[in-house]
Amino acid sequence: MCQCSTLADILLGDDEIISNNPQHPLHGLDEVDWNPSQWACLNQCSMCGQYWHIDIARANQIGICVKVQDRDAWQKLDTTHARIDLMVQNHGGLSFEICKWKQCNKNCVKGLAFCPEHAYFEMDIKA
Ligand SMILES: [Zn+2]
Ligand SMILES: [Zn+2]
Repeated sequence: MCQCSTLADILLGDDEIISNNPQHPLHGLDEVDWNPSQWACLNQCSMCGQYWHIDIARANQIGICVKVQDRDAWQKLDTTHARIDLMVQNHGGLSFEICKWKQCNKNCVKGLAFCPEHAYFEMDIKA
């Protein structure tokens, strides 16, 4: 049995990590498409048919894998929110502090003085 249905919608990993690691839950999926401009490929589980967006490995960027509905959804997929979510998880979630950015009143990422969006886009905190 495959593990797709029990896995989170967003996982860490890129094509290199996955192919070098037989223990990775997405190891051995069929590659059905790739999109060089997005540095991504589309893989499908041969057992349950689930599609997975998988980042192509590149320097200085954390690779992610995201569940997608179908090819159409994949073409439109914006992984920015997935990346922000992972960055927040990496920091242990949100704190009760309020973002220092002018007129922003969102909660901060734990250990940071900014909310997820301001940390990610303005402070360039990507991991
Ligand atoms: Zn599956
Ligand atoms: Zn903010």
